[in-house]
Amino acid sequence: MEVLERAGYSAYLVGGAVRDLLLGRAPADLDIATNAKPEIVKSLFDRTVDTGIRHGTVSVRVRDQWMEVTTFRAEGPYADGRRPDYVEFVDDVVADLARRDFTINAMALDRSGRLVDPFGGRQDLARRLLRAVGDPVERFREDGLRLVRAVRFVVQLSLACDPATERALVEQVDAIRPIALERIGRELERLACAPWHEHLDWLASLPLWRQRGEPLAWLEQGFAWLAARRPFSLAPPPGWPSVALWFVGLDEDAPLCGKRFAESLAYGKDVAHSVERAVRLVRAWLGGADATSPLMLYEAGYDAAVMAARMIAFLTCGDLFERARWKRAICNQPLWDRADLALPARDLMDMGARGKEIGEYQQALVKAVLSGKMKNRREDLRRLVMAWRKEDDGHGLGGQ
Ligand code: ATP
Ligand code: MG
Repeated sequence: MEVLERAGYSAYLVGGAVRDLLLGRAPADLDIATNAKPEIVKSLFDRTVDTGIRHGTVSVRVRDQWMEVTTFRAEGPYADGRRPDYVEFVDDVVADLARRDFTINAMALDRSGRLVDPFGGRQDLARRLLRAVGDPVERFREDGLRLVRAVRFVVQLSLACDPATERALVEQVDAIRPIALERIGRELERLACAPWHEHLDWLASLPLWRQRGEPLAWLEQGFAWLAARRPFSLAPPPGWPSVALWFVGLDEDAPLCGKRFAESLAYGKDVAHSVERAVRLVRAWLGGADATSPLMLYEAGYDAAVMAARMIAFLTCGDLFERARWKRAICNQPLWDRADLALPARDLMDMGARGKEIGEYQQALVKAVLSGKMKNRREDLRRLVMAWRKEDDGHGLGGQ
């Protein structure tokens, strides 16, 4: 901000960072707004990236910290309910604040600590009120993502909705339909790090989720199932374990639904896979299965097992016995992956195993280790394979 000001421009901290500072929370990221055009911003700093230069945003690195510097802008009409048809740069911070979604996000702070707050965001924050900037109906129609953002802020910051905003949040739910799942996913990621367990009835009652069809529509049932299991005394585990918890109670194939949800929200294949297997493990546990057995943990894999342990800690309100049981089982798990067998495939080949046989031996070794019959030690495993080969006269797996 000092650099911009010295060059004769104005600069403000804006948006979420101002809100979080007023709340005494650590800001997630820093957004700076300025009347300097992007080309000027780029010329003033050594390290910049054209993050969204067409919309006026340049990322700038100062003292090991990236921040987004965006030229004051006003937005043209929204024909598609997603993005403005065009943006235009303006010279006035108030005009820039007017395009923002909620009053608590529409404040600016200059370097001297002066707050620019044309919509009463500070008062709303003090009253813990979420209120759209301007007409809520219009603001939700312009960009349906704001519906999900509203839900996220209510939960994240324990806010109540202003009556007009609340009404619009229910009546304009179909505005979510044209919004890309990835953008929705980014907001739900933040919801998954917030105390959603305190708002389960409200979350389950929102007509929002079903507007967008599956996989989002599944959330309604997922939240309702959790609502029926309250009270929960622990804060939910942040991130993916929370996302997985939203799917545990589904009637349909819950693990697959969780996987599809994670995939379509672009959370990546690994995450989707872990969510699927964690949901499966927790459902097995709910059904009374011995879910911490080495075989079940092996099938889930390490990431999903840890995720499931966190989910179960939440579901049991931190039950000490369950916690200890999962911790012990995960620490003592002898094998998580076939690749972790102490006997390398090379050794099997030295013993004469070929082709498909190698995989079959490995599978049998995994079984022997998981059953506790064998320790995962190279010599022990080698002896076992030799015994099998002798029994079988060098062929097959001797009854394994
Ligand atoms: P967080 O602290 O989680 O980052 P945030 O409020 O900073 O929350 P961002 O997505 O980082 O959220 O957006 C930064 C600012 O940009 C917001 O505070 C708001 O002023 C504005 N903004 C973001 N998304 C929208 C939107 N869909 N419509 C209007 N304004 C938006
Ligand atoms: Mg932010």
